[in-house]
Amino acid sequence: MTEIPDPQHTIANLIDQHHESNQSKPRPHLGASIAGHHCDRWIWLSFRWAVIEKFPGRILRLFRRGHLEEAQIVKDLEAIGVTVTDDQKRVTLGGHVSGSIDGIADGVPGAWQTAHLVEMKTHALKSFKDLAANGVEASKPQHYAQMQLYMHGLGLTRALYFAVCKDNDEIYTERVRYDEKAATAMMERAERISLADRIPDPISTDPSWYLCKWCPAHAFCHKAEPTHHVNCRTCAHATAKPDGTWRCERHEADGIPEDFQRRGCDDHVLHPDLVPWPIKDSGDPHEAVYVIDGVDVRNGHPDAHVFASSELIANPKGCVDNLARAVRKAFLGAKVTG
Ligand code: SF4
Ligand code: SF4
Repeated sequence: MTEIPDPQHTIANLIDQHHESNQSKPRPHLGASIAGHHCDRWIWLSFRWAVIEKFPGRILRLFRRGHLEEAQIVKDLEAIGVTVTDDQKRVTLGGHVSGSIDGIADGVPGAWQTAHLVEMKTHALKSFKDLAANGVEASKPQHYAQMQLYMHGLGLTRALYFAVCKDNDEIYTERVRYDEKAATAMMERAERISLADRIPDPISTDPSWYLCKWCPAHAFCHKAEPTHHVNCRTCAHATAKPDGTWRCERHEADGIPEDFQRRGCDDHVLHPDLVPWPIKDSGDPHEAVYVIDGVDVRNGHPDAHVFASSELIANPKGCVDNLARAVRKAFLGAKVTG
């Protein structure tokens, strides 16, 4: 007898595949939510769209659950006389650093007169217990940094951290005081990283270190993988400007539009910090020469002698293979593919 496929399994897979094929694009700005991350390098790589984190469908549904919970939290706060406004209000913190807040609360019990930034988070039981035991600054430093930056940008002096445990619906709240010194230092760090032309040092060179082990950039940092992405931000010709725009030195153009940044152009040259290969002087400001397995590979606008960034990324070995190089040269427009 033919076995009936497990409908649950099939349905779950289909739903997860649906979510996986609708991943959000990387953010154009350096978000306040990431500014407190422990690793400068990760902040830089994600801001440069050099390592783009892809989530499994189940995790994407978990994010959605956290987001949906916010409406319930607002209802609960309103039920006790707290008003929450400015949901998703955009806060520009300066240059490339910005974010969107969960809201501003008025009428917080015990501090009726003081407007509070509200930060709402859902937690799994283990994380919730740690939060309740140690407080948000020690337990969730990234959330703490996010609140400090938003208070800094909005001129607020207090934040209300509202956490819900996903396992048992327990609530933990904490009022957080604005710390000008800490917020200024966080802002300076975020601005420094966003404007850095060169990649920051790794937080660890040990591939088994726990914070690196689970990092989406693990293969990049610890297995010498190149970036997998061609866009203006992985291009050696792009510069992040202090006013929050991007300049292309190759085309001498300021203010590259965001949708164009996501595509890049045929003149893309891989940023030397985003590939594991040694670089040589190319003698041409529009090209780079990378040494792959002892062979010089010219990178820039593709022609018979110059390889596109997409070719180097897709198949670096193919770019140094004699036969592939000969075929590519003989058939104009032929490309090395993965
Ligand atoms: S793997 Fe480690 S060093 Fe590299 S970005 Fe991630 S946390 Fe930083
Ligand atoms: S050369 Fe092309 S890919 Fe590179 S920054 Fe300029 S427009 Fe973007």
